[in-house]
Amino acid sequence: MGKSLFHKVWDAHTVRTLPDGRTQLFIGLHLIHEVTSPQAFGMMKDLELGVAFPERTFATVDHIIPTAKKARLRPFRDNLAEQMTVHLTDSCKQFGIRFFHENSGQQGIVHVVGPEQGLTQPGMTVVCGDSHTSTHGALGAVAFGIGTSQVRDVLSTQTLAMAKLKVRRIEVDGQLGVGVYAKDVILHIIRTLGVNGGTGFAYEFAGSAIENMSMEERMTLCNMSIEGGARVGYVNPDAVTYAYLQGRPYAPKGQDWERALAYWRSIASDQDAVYDDVVRIAASDIAPSLTWGVNPGQVIAIDEPVPTAESVPEHERPNVIDALKYMQLTGGKLIKGHKVDVTFIGSCTNSRLSDLREVAKHVRGKHVAAGVKALVVPGSQLVKDAAEAEGLHDVFTEAGFEWREPGCSMCLGMNPDKLVGDQLCASSSNRNFKGRMGSPEGRTVLMSPVMVAAAAIAGRLADAREVFGMVEQKEVTRGTR
Ligand code: SF4
Repeated sequence: MGKSLFHKVWDAHTVRTLPDGRTQLFIGLHLIHEVTSPQAFGMMKDLELGVAFPERTFATVDHIIPTAKKARLRPFRDNLAEQMTVHLTDSCKQFGIRFFHENSGQQGIVHVVGPEQGLTQPGMTVVCGDSHTSTHGALGAVAFGIGTSQVRDVLSTQTLAMAKLKVRRIEVDGQLGVGVYAKDVILHIIRTLGVNGGTGFAYEFAGSAIENMSMEERMTLCNMSIEGGARVGYVNPDAVTYAYLQGRPYAPKGQDWERALAYWRSIASDQDAVYDDVVRIAASDIAPSLTWGVNPGQVIAIDEPVPTAESVPEHERPNVIDALKYMQLTGGKLIKGHKVDVTFIGSCTNSRLSDLREVAKHVRGKHVAAGVKALVVPGSQLVKDAAEAEGLHDVFTEAGFEWREPGCSMCLGMNPDKLVGDQLCASSSNRNFKGRMGSPEGRTVLMSPVMVAAAAIAGRLADAREVFGMVEQKEVTRGTR
């Protein structure tokens, strides 16, 4: 009986089965950042523990770092942000951990930095004190977010006690339509299976639509697995994966590369692998989508009306009524056409070079609508440098977008980029919870970066296919780097 990648990787990393039935799992790569690590380091210092494998631990600063150039001068104006950064810097020095700090030229959002440095590799177990660690599954790793006490455990032992997950294979077959991107695919999946549908599961994404995606599109997909309740999301490694990794700073070289390739090929799911569940989705059923409510499963197509309380099962009605009120929407009416105050292209979901290229292609020669604050925040310094080398920053600034320094920015209100009052933000990020973007009344609408750009240009939530005349042909930039 064949095995899935998840089971192969799990078995290869099992140290032992614990008395309570959980597995003590060896962790290949531990990524840390300034928000969830200070407490963990504090606990370790109290217990006089060291870092077991500093060479398997890498740090960056992303959540709290300002994205406006002047605001990045040290010390940061926000004292807490400064303290967190100092704490991380000191801990990295003390324990010999490589730190991609803000002047290193390699800083960025932790889930952008890991893959682009070639740290994340197929067949690895990867953890980070951040829910969107599932992103790294795009490269065929088993990657998941952990809590602060688990960060301490991994730092001090390089292992973790974990209950084994079930595996659901999600097959998306066929050709995606015009203006339909990886973001629309994952929003559609979460809409279909629910925000808790993946609880207890790892999601294996497969099918021709996934195989045709670039690495960066696969990262968008896996990034939001956790929003559907699945702690792990992955794609089996293939030629796209290997081409992406080859030549990256931490990728194996020479004979090690050949050995690694052989291993990576061996850990892909077997043809006859057995799954706990299989879901099949036709790519042609997926429309350019966006959220209308306050969780990433409250999704509609751009030309679909917002649901009414009466249109959903009785147990969901209170949530729908609450979400409609918070978002200031009327059930049964279109969300399309609603005025936007802010637009945000960024976050670990959609801030990579291929995202920026695709948006730039459409906004060239157009201009952001009056009164709209439009941000483009590259996911890392390397993404920023590469985009600037191609002149993308000029395209954005000429079109009226603000071109920022790398960081999490508006995705989470932990830095100066925040919504004010009940501003409505069209966002390429991954969470639309109440207050997520820094204002208790702020409203977030999730969508693909191209749809965000369409909203910025139109000044309203809009169909990118109409704003950019995309009806003729879809020419997605399939960036593999
Ligand atoms: S971009 Fe957003 S979701 Fe991603 S790591 Fe930063 S705060 Fe978390």
